[in-house]
Amino acid sequence: MKIGFIGLGNMGGPMARNLAAAGHQVAGFDLAAPVIEGVTPAATAAEAAAGAEVIITMLPNGQILRAVAAEVIPAMAPGAVFCDCSTVDVDSARAVAEQAVAAGLGALDAPVSGGVGGAAAGTLTFMVGGSDAAFATVSPLFDIMGQKAVHCGESGAGQAAKICNNMILGVTMIATCEAFALADKLGLDRQKMFDVVSTSSGYSWSLNAYCPAPGVGPTSPADNDYKPGFAAELMLKDLRLSQQAAESADADTPMGQLATALYTAFVEDEDGRGRDFSAMLPRLSARGRGPGSA
Ligand code: NAD
Repeated sequence: MKIGFIGLGNMGGPMARNLAAAGHQVAGFDLAAPVIEGVTPAATAAEAAAGAEVIITMLPNGQILRAVAAEVIPAMAPGAVFCDCSTVDVDSARAVAEQAVAAGLGALDAPVSGGVGGAAAGTLTFMVGGSDAAFATVSPLFDIMGQKAVHCGESGAGQAAKICNNMILGVTMIATCEAFALADKLGLDRQKMFDVVSTSSGYSWSLNAYCPAPGVGPTSPADNDYKPGFAAELMLKDLRLSQQAAESADADTPMGQLATALYTAFVEDEDGRGRDFSAMLPRLSARGRGPGSA
């Protein structure tokens, strides 16, 4: 397949490389002009799009996606598919899809989970919104870049699934960390706490698979001095997107709102930037119940 790939950063670079390694013809564009094995550099985004059957974008946010889409869509061949894999707000995902469909193109929002490791190994999970036909066209590429692609519904459904999942993740990580901090102050051994909760009704992915307490449970960023993993500022980005969507849909999300406030304080006013999002545990452990404790 002839593919244009725009945004060759930590995620996009290895995804584009995997497509090229599988024998596809990939033209890539990124403002930072990185060299990616097997990918032919294009001078502009429009040049990467010209003649491609599928355009994939992997960009930092919705504003940049909208700007890139405005440049690329007019340059795309009729019937081609615009597939955005970035994590962006639902409104931008829908606006870009509408623009693509109005231009006679297919459109998918297909954000991923699995992080940089999953991108390199080709084991990402894709959550996809858009038409059946567009999904069928891009499916073989999802199979190369990932291990699973779920067609969630119409345009925006992929982004909706992603931010709902990550809102649960942010909230449960904080709940798990505050439970460890409380257990410490109650004199409960962390290993015993893990042994009980990991097989009781308080269990979750945050505790069982990504335990925020070092030396307890499977190896996680906590065992590597909280080096990411999944950085606190990326968690904050996704939580903010969940709250933007909740605002726009008039949904009551009090826990999501509080999780957003806590990660905002952690990343913007404290030492959270560049640390794993599970470093919420040492943050909470260091605090008491004084004013501003939430
Ligand atoms: P990144 O910053 O490493 O890559 C983004 C790339 O986009 C950069 O190389 C940048 O130069 C390029 N870019 C910016 N504006 C551009 C433009 N106008 N035209 C062309 N290129 C442009 O970020 P990343 O970690 O690769 O993340 C990309 C997306 O994937 C984000 O939306 C992020 O939320 C999402 N995501 C990231 C992870 C992760 O663990 N890193 C996991 C899941 C989802």
